[in-house]
Amino acid sequence: MLMCRDLARSASDYVEGQLGRADTVAIKMHLLMCRHCRRFVSNLRASIALLRHHSHLSAQGVDPHYLQRLDSAIERELQAREDP
Ligand SMILES: [Zn+2]
Repeated sequence: MLMCRDLARSASDYVEGQLGRADTVAIKMHLLMCRHCRRFVSNLRASIALLRHHSHLSAQGVDPHYLQRLDSAIERELQAREDP
């Protein structure tokens, strides 16, 4: 069974449609059962859309600082979820 932590790890690939069929199905199954991850994925989807929107403004593409902030946001989300 896929855990929240596993989902967080492959969530960006999922949103980008880069996972294989089996992984995609595993994530969809998890999302059916887990509203926390549903919210997480929809936030991530919004972040990625925002990133795409802004990336055409920069010749270098994705700003590495933005990715770092995104990573720490994901970490905070995971840690918050593990609190009782
Ligand atoms: Zn979950």
